[in-house]
Amino acid sequence: MSAFGSVFMPEMAISWFDGSSWSTPEMVSSDSIQLHPGAHVLHYSSTCFEGLKAFSHQDGSTKIFRMDSSVDRFAQSSRLLALPEIDKAITSRMIIDSVAHFANDVPASPGSMYIRPTHFGTEPAIGKAAAPSVSSCQYILLSPVGDYFAGGDACLRLLLDEQGMRCAPHNGMIKSGGNYASALRPIMQARSEYQADQVLFCPGGDVQETGAANFLLIDGNEIITKALDESFLHGITRDSILTIARDLGMQVSERQLTVEELLERSAKPNCEAALSGTAAVLAPVGTLIHNGREYQVGSGKVGETTVKLRQTLNDIQWGKTEDRHGWLTNVEA
Ligand SMILES: *Cc1c(COP(=O)(O)O)cnc(C)c1O
Repeated sequence: MSAFGSVFMPEMAISWFDGSSWSTPEMVSSDSIQLHPGAHVLHYSSTCFEGLKAFSHQDGSTKIFRMDSSVDRFAQSSRLLALPEIDKAITSRMIIDSVAHFANDVPASPGSMYIRPTHFGTEPAIGKAAAPSVSSCQYILLSPVGDYFAGGDACLRLLLDEQGMRCAPHNGMIKSGGNYASALRPIMQARSEYQADQVLFCPGGDVQETGAANFLLIDGNEIITKALDESFLHGITRDSILTIARDLGMQVSERQLTVEELLERSAKPNCEAALSGTAAVLAPVGTLIHNGREYQVGSGKVGETTVKLRQTLNDIQWGKTEDRHGWLTNVEA
């Protein structure tokens, strides 16, 4: 099995902004971008992306999960990075048309088609360190993916980092390349020094998120996660899981969670913790590492509420249960 995101469909939808309008989207070879070495993105990281998925249903149809929310966030990321404004209708059409083009290649459950819209500044202008790119490009790259948990439901080890930050606080809600580069060094260090899988960034003791996923604490019937602010990424999986939790009668608390409270609650035998994101939906957390000590979360194994919430979301994605919130967009082949 290939690593997640390393296989691509041979063509992608692409559109260019020339400073005044977007070109008519077209399907081109996936390795065909030509970029000037002075392009704004290559020097000043004017780039953002999205991650969403299409699912193949039993009845032969193909559905995209929460496309509108993803396109809204793509537009917001573009705006906050001072990239040219995207036209949400055009981007949505590009996503639907790309998936329709490769509908026969959408892997069957438990696989899916990962969709990666990308937008970046193309203007050849290395003097524009403090000015936006007037031109840009957006494309929709597709990557068929298998079962995220094919190797089993291993529980993650997270290093709690109270000193560092994932990215500059005013950039947290932008899904932008530079933020991942910024988080890489602390993550690599946590891997080599503590055999941690991820860093849970907790600046000043405030539990935030990891390098590419949101953090949820599940204590019995209550689910606790940081309230939305501009310092971290507003996950669509986070929102979907909280919505499902409310539907199931759980108490949802979006509020500040301190490291102290996290460690205290984690010691309870029925406590669970998980990371949420499009790739895994919910990945269980078994161990927290803090100031050189290891803390087991609950049983240290995947918990039943984590499994139930993930299963409920997966069932909506694959059409095995009713889509009560209108989260699926149909793709006409
Ligand atoms: C993409 C991402 C998430 C998860 O967002 P989803 O919409 O649930 O996939 C969380 N944190 C960061 C930093 C991300 O880049």
